[in-house]
Amino acid sequence: MGDRPGTTVATSPAAPARAPSGAWTFAHAWAKAVAGTSYLPQTQEQLEALLHGLTERLAAALLAEPFDLRAGQRVGAELVAAHIASAEGLGRTVEVLQLRLVRDLGLVAEDAEDRMARLLAAVATGYARALRDRTLDEQESIRRAAMTARSQAERALRDSEARFRHQATHDPLTGLPNRTLFTERLAAAVNAPGRGADRVGLCFLDLDRFKVINDSHGHQVGDALLRAVGDRLHRALDGHLVARLGGDEFVVLVERSAGTRDMIEVAEAALAAVRELTVVDAHELTVTASIGIVERQVAGTSPGDLMRAADSTLHWAKAAGGGRWELYDADRDRRDLARYALSAAIPTALDRGEFYLDYQPLTSLSDGRVIGVEALVRWRHPERGVLRPDSFIALAEETGLIVPLGGWVLAEACRAAGGWSTAGAPAPFVSVNLAVRQVHRPGLVQEVRTLLASTGLPPERLQLEITESTMMSTAAEPVRALRMLADLGVRIAIDDFGTGYCNLAYLRDLPVTELKVAGEFVAGLRSPETRADERILASLVSLAHALDLTVTAEGVETAGQAERLRAIGCDAGQGWYFGRPGPAEGCLAGPSAPSTAAGAEQAASAG
Ligand code: C2E
Ligand code: CA
Ligand code: CA
Repeated sequence: MGDRPGTTVATSPAAPARAPSGAWTFAHAWAKAVAGTSYLPQTQEQLEALLHGLTERLAAALLAEPFDLRAGQRVGAELVAAHIASAEGLGRTVEVLQLRLVRDLGLVAEDAEDRMARLLAAVATGYARALRDRTLDEQESIRRAAMTARSQAERALRDSEARFRHQATHDPLTGLPNRTLFTERLAAAVNAPGRGADRVGLCFLDLDRFKVINDSHGHQVGDALLRAVGDRLHRALDGHLVARLGGDEFVVLVERSAGTRDMIEVAEAALAAVRELTVVDAHELTVTASIGIVERQVAGTSPGDLMRAADSTLHWAKAAGGGRWELYDADRDRRDLARYALSAAIPTALDRGEFYLDYQPLTSLSDGRVIGVEALVRWRHPERGVLRPDSFIALAEETGLIVPLGGWVLAEACRAAGGWSTAGAPAPFVSVNLAVRQVHRPGLVQEVRTLLASTGLPPERLQLEITESTMMSTAAEPVRALRMLADLGVRIAIDDFGTGYCNLAYLRDLPVTELKVAGEFVAGLRSPETRADERILASLVSLAHALDLTVTAEGVETAGQAERLRAIGCDAGQGWYFGRPGPAEGCLAGPSAPSTAAGAEQAASAG
């Protein structure tokens, strides 16, 4: 381009250059016309200076040979660049240019009018194009800004999603993965055997006696301890997922286990990490943990199976005293499950009348009379045949089902005994075993009262057998209940005496009427050489008599034992020698001939 706008004023020979004052006059008028149409704050002087420059370029363009439209377009573009960029600003510009430019500048040209019209069109075109470009630019930058804003928003969303996900999968107290994340990872480990991991292992960990710490030091100390333990576990088992499942339960997931030996190492490391001393608020705390380890092939197992197995195994570790790991044992688990299934079947068995009682005589050693009869429960199991109490009583005690079962035994024994009569001699009492739980139950006394009333059984014909440990309980309630029963006239016997911790001096203050000496003591009487056992038994009997207690020896199997016990002063005997457990009729037949009674239990012992 030949012309250099703004730097020179081209003049034609026919129109000599005008004094600058004309350009300033016009610029002044132009500035006044467009004042207020710009959205850019600038002073009148600044605006005038700008427009003065443009005026000179327009003047030059009007006179230039050849006439060049582009000069006008550039002026239009510069107006837009100077933010005189509204429809109004353009309108006033066109107006003032048309009315005044030629006149104010005293420009004379042959085709001035024609040139002026084309120049105005050029200014308007440049103006419009610049405006469109700028609008496009603006749109572009708006678009860019929108994009930036969107990606920022997306990042923020991703961040907050990540934060949310973290919160949802981590334990707030310890910062460790929580049950959700652990479950996901376990499921992934079990369900993706293609990834080369064909064995998986779990250490299910529970702190021992954590409740004691919580109760004695408060929850804040407990929480701090959990944090410290979580932290140590995490550091000690780096590389394996350590999760807190809740409370004081943690789990270590070994996603690619190489076998039980690896798992035992992990468990040992975890136990050591837990055992380290923790100092919280000047409290020095040491805790131990129990761990159940399960390690197996991924194929054929499920997360649920693994967790259940780990849970059972953890309980074995707890039951063994804690502070140790145990390894899952399928046989043991099956036995546990069978026991569980058996105890779960007790209520239905009660409904269906599958339980029944056998009776075993308690025989007077002085005259061979049957003075009492012990009721022993049996279960005629539909699949497993007759079950002895040893296979279900302990279970029933653990689960609490002993309460309904023992209640049935008590009622059935009272009902049966209420109907007994022996020609001439007084009918024997019935002796019923009571489990600890039954004695601790508040309703026991009322239950017995009601039973005695409904069956017509005199109280002195009911004896309750309780174990030493029941008596040794620190709770006052059982002793009070037994005293009330004794006051009613019910006999109270201590069963299996000598196998627990009870001593005779303690018994003096208790409402007890009889001691049943455990079979172990009687077994010692078998050989004539064991004189020491005999002397111990003899002094026990005389002490018991001094306390007004009668003594029954259990497990009497031979005539020799029966004779020695009689010589010692024992009051009664119970055992195969006198009669095996069986139907009540066997005991009520009068003084039994020991040789024939010995075969009575054949049916039951076969079960
Ligand atoms: P226990 O109260 O010591 O009952 C005596 C047990 O010794 C009975 O076993 C009886 O069959 C057995 N026995 C009797 N004479 C002899 C003998 O001369 N030699 C040997 N070796 N054993 C003899 P059983 O019937 O299997 O009962 C086992 C235990 O089950 C009972 O021991 C008792 O603690 C418990 N039990 C039985 N019935 C009940 C019940 O209704 N309620 C509760 N809570 N426990 C019961
Ligand atoms: Ca007993
Ligand atoms: Ca016993």
